[in-house]
Amino acid sequence: MRRKLVVGNWKMNMTHAEAAAIVEAFVRLVDQKQDVDIAICPSYLSIETVRNLLRRTHIGVGSQDVFWMESGAFTGRISAPMLKAAGVTTCIVGHSETRGKFGKLEVPESTVGYFAETDETVNLKIKALLFQDITPILCVGETLAEREAGTTDQVIRGQLAGAFAGIDGAEFANGVVAYEPVWAIGTGKTCDSAEASRVCGMIRGALAEILDADAAQSIRVLYGGSVKSSNSGELFSQPDIDGGLVGGASMVADEFSRIVLSA
Ligand code: PEP
Repeated sequence: MRRKLVVGNWKMNMTHAEAAAIVEAFVRLVDQKQDVDIAICPSYLSIETVRNLLRRTHIGVGSQDVFWMESGAFTGRISAPMLKAAGVTTCIVGHSETRGKFGKLEVPESTVGYFAETDETVNLKIKALLFQDITPILCVGETLAEREAGTTDQVIRGQLAGAFAGIDGAEFANGVVAYEPVWAIGTGKTCDSAEASRVCGMIRGALAEILDADAAQSIRVLYGGSVKSSNSGELFSQPDIDGGLVGGASMVADEFSRIVLSA
């Protein structure tokens, strides 16, 4: 039986003082909810503050990204050993925003290429995290154009195959995959729960083929894309959805706690 998991992705928001205030309020609201796994992914600069506040709770601290090399002349990057030393237990990889795809374009289109990571770099990041025993949260999902072209499943299967090249099922058995339709991220448009469940089920089937049947049963498949407390209960009750990756709504303690309590 897979435990539900709810992860907050704070993206490029909040100073460490603001992060601390939200974490303190959030912990008071969800401390008794021990049957759901929870992680918060603040900016790199707030990881230590958040980790210290979460030390005596069941809530983990995560990172939003990682670089795959262990150390060296890679200005501005953060490695998996650095995350491990900072107490990080989980890390998002291949988010559509780091892949250079945005549900709502807020940067000049000419700069999008600077964000663009590939299935190959996603694969290297997953390997670097597994080596440090940090749980990867692999994000996959289609753009609006890909959905309208009817290629959703094909796009996601390609992302999964690329991400898991050279990785076997036992290595990723405790890992997480998040289905995040790009068109639903930060847009207020949530994927219909039946369709979100269908895609999450399709992902589980693909995991059985690409990894193995045991891993496909143990890997948690989350839904992400405009999750809020008004839709989380229905989404999380779908048979193939094991929880959520939550952006905007995770930055308001009350709202995020309601989402966790609905799981
Ligand atoms: C996300 O960033 O992963 C996300 C799902 O964002 P939001 O909940 O704001 O759509």
